[in-house]
Amino acid sequence: MTVAWYAFIVVITFCVMEFMAWFAHKYIMHGWLWGWHRDHHDPQYKEGQFFEKNDLFFLVFAIPSATAYIVGLATPHLWLLFVGIGISIYGLIYFLIHDVYIHRRFKWFKQLDSRYSRAILRAHGSHHSKKTKEDCESFGLLFVHPRYFSEDYKMSRKKT
Ligand SMILES: [Zn+2]
Ligand SMILES: [Zn+2]
Repeated sequence: MTVAWYAFIVVITFCVMEFMAWFAHKYIMHGWLWGWHRDHHDPQYKEGQFFEKNDLFFLVFAIPSATAYIVGLATPHLWLLFVGIGISIYGLIYFLIHDVYIHRRFKWFKQLDSRYSRAILRAHGSHHSKKTKEDCESFGLLFVHPRYFSEDYKMSRKKT
């Protein structure tokens, strides 16, 4: 395969990961593994600790990428290595956007400000407007519903 193909695999994997993250968040984290995700929605369960039980998902989501690296390098299926790279890039960006930019767990950067970054903040903020397993919206991270680009989104929500 050519370099262009490998780059294509990284990009496709990255996009599929946004879907996987949405799916896992909606049906697993707000499903049978809510016990791990609950302290991310309701700080009273994390008892002042820096780490949340929810962080266990970082370890879980590292398994598919680690597997892709190992199988990609140890077998003739080198393309799997680039699947692993795509997953890692998504994981890194998810961490930077979700944990650093949105939740400010590290004070690394605050100057990020664009229409898109504000839409991400609104979308994830609306996800966190509920502390419960049920009735949440906006489970994805980077793929944002167009309504969150509206500058008066918050106002229109307050009225309802
Ligand atoms: Zn959630
Ligand atoms: Zn969050």
